[in-house]
Amino acid sequence: MNAGAFPEALAARLAKLGIRARFDLVLHLPSRYEDETRLTPVNAAPAGTPVLIEAMVERAEIVYRPRRQLIVHAASEAGPLALRFFNFYPSQLKQFARAKEQGLAVRAFGELRGGWFGAEMAHPRYRVVAPGDPLAQSLTPVYPTTAGLSQAALRKLILGALDELPLDDTLPRELCERYSLEAFDAAVRLLHLPPPAADVVALEGRTHPAWRRVKFDELLAQQLSMRLHYRARHERRAPSLPAGGALMRKFLAALPFRLTQAQQRCLGEIRRDLGERHPMQRLLQGDVGSGKTILAAIACLAAVDAGWQAAVMAPTELLAEQHQRKFAEWLSPLGVRIAWLHGALARKEKRAALEAIGAGEAQIAIGTHALFQEGVEFARLGLAVVDEQHRFGVQQRLQLRRKGEAAKSGLVPHQLMMSATPIPRTLSMTYYADLDVSTIDEMPPGRHPVKTRLVSGARRGEVLMRIRAACRAGQQAYWVCPLVEPSERSERVASRDKLELQSALDAYAELAAELPELCVGLLHGRMAPAEKAGVMRNFLAGRIQLLVATTVIEVGVDVPSASLMVIEHAERFGLSQLHQLRGRVGRGALESICILLYRNPLSAAARARLKVIFETADGFEVARQDLLLRGPGEYLGERQSGAPLLRFADLERDQSLIAAAREAAAGLLEREPDAARAHVERWLSARQDFARV
Ligand code: ADP
Ligand code: MG
Repeated sequence: MNAGAFPEALAARLAKLGIRARFDLVLHLPSRYEDETRLTPVNAAPAGTPVLIEAMVERAEIVYRPRRQLIVHAASEAGPLALRFFNFYPSQLKQFARAKEQGLAVRAFGELRGGWFGAEMAHPRYRVVAPGDPLAQSLTPVYPTTAGLSQAALRKLILGALDELPLDDTLPRELCERYSLEAFDAAVRLLHLPPPAADVVALEGRTHPAWRRVKFDELLAQQLSMRLHYRARHERRAPSLPAGGALMRKFLAALPFRLTQAQQRCLGEIRRDLGERHPMQRLLQGDVGSGKTILAAIACLAAVDAGWQAAVMAPTELLAEQHQRKFAEWLSPLGVRIAWLHGALARKEKRAALEAIGAGEAQIAIGTHALFQEGVEFARLGLAVVDEQHRFGVQQRLQLRRKGEAAKSGLVPHQLMMSATPIPRTLSMTYYADLDVSTIDEMPPGRHPVKTRLVSGARRGEVLMRIRAACRAGQQAYWVCPLVEPSERSERVASRDKLELQSALDAYAELAAELPELCVGLLHGRMAPAEKAGVMRNFLAGRIQLLVATTVIEVGVDVPSASLMVIEHAERFGLSQLHQLRGRVGRGALESICILLYRNPLSAAARARLKVIFETADGFEVARQDLLLRGPGEYLGERQSGAPLLRFADLERDQSLIAAAREAAAGLLEREPDAARAHVERWLSARQDFARV
């Protein structure tokens, strides 16, 4: 259906609008309407509103005042009308002359203004008609379009599709009745061609019942596709990794600390899933510092105990190194063999590591996501752990999901995703509906909540004194360097990196000079992995007292003895970023403080963010506020990919519809699986990754 639906040049333009199949035309809905269903007398047109006026053509002429233009004089019962065109073809002059000869009228649509000749319109859309010709029977749709595709041409394509394609309902009648939904066919026809009396405000505001039907359908397709996916996963085979093997028992008996109730509950859920014969896809969410890593390590032991391998992927080298360090500390005493893939490996070492993984000698492999993507062959991969999953965005997650499915033959590994950025409810009901979720909703004992202080940049001196005092008392501190302002940002990421690097180097030089008695370290993204690891080791061992860093420390870094964090230009950071950064302190028994240095004047958005982070310590609440402030699009990272994941429904405004679609999806799959599939099929389009099952 997709291939060759349109001639090539047209296809390219339509593709820009996300239209690939002819059915996509039906779902390309107007953004507004123009009313050409009634005529307005020239003396009764409201200011600023485009109207349709009919008048008899009297004379057309080209004048040069002040520049070349075509003026058409016309007469109506309510007074004269002049049309003014600056861009025109010679044929238009002839067209109007002929209209005059034949006693025809012009119907012009546009805003009326008082001008030189009385009422006039500039550049109206117009048609030459016989007086009294019937008017349009419906409002005129105005579509989002793109260069090289006129409204008229697009309208013609869409109306053609409406006429020719079957628009029969994919939903059973009872379902439509239960949720008070209009018929699909009637709804899309109304949206494309509303009757003259239609409520334009409701149409343009997308609250009209016809919109409700379309949004419901879209949300239902998403729910169905997530559920179908969930089912398909349960039909795939995975190795069973039962809990209670020798290594796991040994490790649990000698844990470095007692697991919290919440950790135990989540571990139970993970262990149960791993024992199943279909692949787990579980998201382990818990606020920063809630202790997810240890659960990942225990899950890996289940794989090793059962004779399978586990992969642990982190978004940054720094975090991968930290995992490597912790896993080695915890698991090497048990004789578990761990391979660490990192950027600084010499070619020979890397080959050796890859061979160990390929031969199944290495039981656990740790590295960045990027390194794994380069093509690591496992002998028997049983479990993949993805840390800080939220860093990868929805698109990447869905990609990864598809990748796992590609291994159709043989067994699919289990997947454990971890995230400190809790998924707000609306998202967990939609984009994440195909996952099982475990939540660690309790912090390890003995933690003090981090105190957050907002301090004006003018009081930097006091902050330095504070750092001095803390370090003198044997504590450690982070100094997070500012992001580069968007205005200073170059389009090119490379030069932005450079600017950020420079700002880190400057901050480091300055602080080292201002605090000569302290041992100051520097960490930034441009350092070689081994260098970074060295700095982290020194910080961990207390040899560095103040660590000046870029946002490379944003995720996952765990140094319990650090109790003070200063974030410079905090107003430039996003909410979840601030929450993550703040989560680097308060990880031990010490009272911790996070100082947000800000520079006035603050934008309203920056002020709102700082207020939230100051008032809220709870990551769930921060995430909710973040979603409210930024909107789901940016939250999901769809900006980067350019394709909106939902076209019509709005996660915030249409919450009640989401709930209805969720409920309906369950029933439909149960009772009418064919209708469910037909529905997903209808909505499946290239821009909706979620719909691919
Ligand atoms: P996150 O969930 O942010 O990844 P980590 O797994 O890094 O958190 O854990 C934060 C710190 O808390 C680590 O130093 C970890 O060893 C420690 N920790 C985890 N669970 C517990 C617990 N039950 N009791 C005490 N400390 C714990
Ligand atoms: Mg972590």
